[in-house]
Amino acid sequence: MTMRLLALGVGDAFSARHFSTAFCVEAAGRWLLIDCPHPIRKMLAEASLKAGIPLDLDAVEGVVLTHLHGDHASGLESFGYFNRFALGRRAQLLAHPLVSHRLWEGHLAAGMEHLLPSAEAEPVEMGLPDYFELSSLDEKAPVPFGPFTIECRRTIHHIPTTALRIHAGGRTIAYSADTTFDTSLIDWLAPADLILHETGYGVHTPYSALESLPLPLRAKMRLVHYPDELEATGDPRPLTEGDLLTV
Ligand SMILES: [Zn+2]
Repeated sequence: MTMRLLALGVGDAFSARHFSTAFCVEAAGRWLLIDCPHPIRKMLAEASLKAGIPLDLDAVEGVVLTHLHGDHASGLESFGYFNRFALGRRAQLLAHPLVSHRLWEGHLAAGMEHLLPSAEAEPVEMGLPDYFELSSLDEKAPVPFGPFTIECRRTIHHIPTTALRIHAGGRTIAYSADTTFDTSLIDWLAPADLILHETGYGVHTPYSALESLPLPLRAKMRLVHYPDELEATGDPRPLTEGDLLTV
């Protein structure tokens, strides 16, 4: 069995050229979304059309969340609403407990905590379980989800954030998520068949650090979350929206 990866967005939070970074992985015909920026449905439609495999959100069985920054999580409100009202189901959401700790009261509640049953009725109070079925990722043990097994590891970032290793059928896709350059994280990502690594300014990972990694590692690494000004001349090279990679 192979895995596939579809790039939905590749930019950083400030990009004028790209959607924020997110992607889908597929195994045995089942799709899992990794992070959920706004406008996630349009991102999926455009990327999948470009790749020649048109997909809508009904094909996405769950979302793995790396952290709560808006460029990774701003699409969760519409994702939750679309799943409830258009698809008639709760959205499956997987995240480390430190990542999801303030998901409702610190992120989603302001826009989702009340619903009007009708124009004349009083608002009804809603909660996270009305929209999402939340499963915890665990740094100590892989978590199964459909054909996938998901591992996570904390990164060095402003708020709780986890890198990911997603396994299926003996293949592995790894994602740094947002992080500073961290050689222990690089070692954790290294065994994967495909590595997506962020790059950027400030506390993000400078491209120069990734460019100096050993070639066999760089050759299976693709850049995401990159600034518009990035000039990458060799490996690792940037991923592009609509790229469909077989792993
Ligand atoms: Zn971030």
